Amino acid sequence: MGQWVYLNGEYLPQEAAKISVFDHGFLYGDGVFEGIRAYKGKVFKLNEHIQRLFNSAKAISLKIPLSQEKLKEKILEALRRNKLQDAYIRVVVSRGEGDLGLDPAKCPSPQLVIITDEISIYPEKLYEKGLEVVTSSIRRNNPSALDPRIKSLNYLNNILAKLEATSKGAPEAIMLNEDGYVAECTGDNLFIVEKGVLVTPPIWVGILKGITRDVVIELAKKEGIPVEEKVFTLFSVYTSDECFLTGTAAEVIPVTRVDGRVIGNGKVGPITRMLITKFRKLTEKEGVPIYPDN
Ligand code: PMP
Repeated sequence: MGQWVYLNGEYLPQEAAKISVFDHGFLYGDGVFEGIRAYKGKVFKLNEHIQRLFNSAKAISLKIPLSQEKLKEKILEALRRNKLQDAYIRVVVSRGEGDLGLDPAKCPSPQLVIITDEISIYPEKLYEKGLEVVTSSIRRNNPSALDPRIKSLNYLNNILAKLEATSKGAPEAIMLNEDGYVAECTGDNLFIVEKGVLVTPPIWVGILKGITRDVVIELAKKEGIPVEEKVFTLFSVYTSDECFLTGTAAEVIPVTRVDGRVIGNGKVGPITRMLITKFRKLTEKEGVPIYPDN
């Protein structure tokens, strides 16, 4: 049997968890979501993910039908029902059923879904060798049109860039903002190391405020590594000493080649290595227990 899926107050077998074709999440990408990880029986940064989900929902005037506390309980319960220790958790809130027009006011019942599943990630060898990424010709959404801080169900901007990357044989693409500054990747934030300083684009460039990004900034500062949030172009990426990506699914993953240019000496650099190790240690140590009695 498949997984149990939470849908509007019930846990259903995945085959029975169905959403209407009139749901505006389906018709228009009108909704928000989160991707969360559980490691060894603990949910990593659960509060931060739930807060971001509520902020995304607020930004699109979508009312989540549960309190933050209740939603956290439902997530933990979903993991218990599926007997999971290490998992990927997807929380989706869609606008709900309406008519064929755009008007969200005609969608009285937002739909809340929690899917939990085993995690599939990049193979370990890529954490040792590093990824090869390319730059996409698709610019990241302008915040004045659709703010990338909203983790919305409308991911076409990222999907177009992802299509371009995979057509070139790369697993990820760097996306620039409309002014040509480096923004982020299709599903990850981006960092570079320049002469011992960790540099990453500021939020206002038009990126998702990644939770892994925040954790990595904190870890680096704790280790005495200076961190700067500043705008930069591809020139800085090509000439950086180290480059890596961060995301809930990818964690901290090195990048050793960008648009055919070798980054640094082509090997995973010492700061990236250290951050991978520290990040992994933290995920094992911290988190909200799924099975509190264990
Ligand atoms: N940017 C985008 C566009 C993303 O979809 C994600 C993954 N959710 C990230 C960055 C990384 O964010 P986080 O570390 O919170 O997973």
